[in-house]
Amino acid sequence: MGGLRIDENAASSLPGLYAAGECTGGIHGANRLAGNALSENQVFGAIAGTHAAKFALRQTGLLKASAQLEERVLAPVRELIGRTQSPSPDRDAIRPSEGWKQVQSVMQRWVGATRTEAGLKDAISALDALRVECSQRMAARDASLAYNRDISRALELRNMIDTGWMAALAALERKESRGAHVRLDAPEENEEWTCSLAVSLSEQGVTLRKLKRGREAEA
Ligand SMILES: Cc1cc2nc3c(=O)[nH]c(=O)nc-3n(C[C@H](O)[C@H](O)[C@H](O)COP(=O)(O)OP(=O)(O)OC[C@H]3O[C@@H](n4cnc5c(N)ncnc54)[C@H](O)[C@@H]3O)c2cc1C
Repeated sequence: MGGLRIDENAASSLPGLYAAGECTGGIHGANRLAGNALSENQVFGAIAGTHAAKFALRQTGLLKASAQLEERVLAPVRELIGRTQSPSPDRDAIRPSEGWKQVQSVMQRWVGATRTEAGLKDAISALDALRVECSQRMAARDASLAYNRDISRALELRNMIDTGWMAALAALERKESRGAHVRLDAPEENEEWTCSLAVSLSEQGVTLRKLKRGREAEA
């Protein structure tokens, strides 16, 4: 089942970020036995918590984001505030909560319990369009910086679009049905796909890698 990749210490590839439970993938393979989710949470939650605490103890000062990273996070916030304060506001501007609903609706419709190639392609196009629309036309209800839920929702929305987009891409690539991944147009299991698919996004674009038992497989 899909999710964030973690190592044996429940560490992600981002230093200091540990994860466990529903947001992680790779523990159970293609599906999990009923009841195993809560056991997983207990085991990996304890591992993640212990290692996160050890990591925190090793830190001697404040973690400082690079100027480039800071800019990547803050630039969209500045744009959102700029649009919110605009003297001639866009009457059709998208609110972050509407963007959330759109992502939920796309994922529910096309990347849910059963999938098809056409539906997954529609999901990818819809998320691509939403990403552009949000970057150009999203505005908040007000521009205050304190407790402004619209701003945090807008930042989360960007990640939701990317995460949904990667899930749809992986499901499109996997042309078979296995466990919880049911492709109506490829209902059988295919031996070639006895592997995990790792998807990562960077400034350079998207990378897909086949992994067998956590290690690189032949393409
Ligand atoms: C209907 C149903 C029945 C199930 N039955 C079983 C069962 O019988 N046995 C079993 O083992 N498993 C079962 N599961 C699965 C199990 O419930 C989940 O795997 C488990 O609850 C996941 O726990 P979690 O802590 O990883 O994630 P979650 O329970 O989803 O917790 C994530 C938390 O993070 C919070 N959050 C989200 N975003 C943010 C944010 N930006 N900032 C701060 N907080 C945030 C959420 O509000 C939530 O409280 C069931 C699931 C469902 C939906």
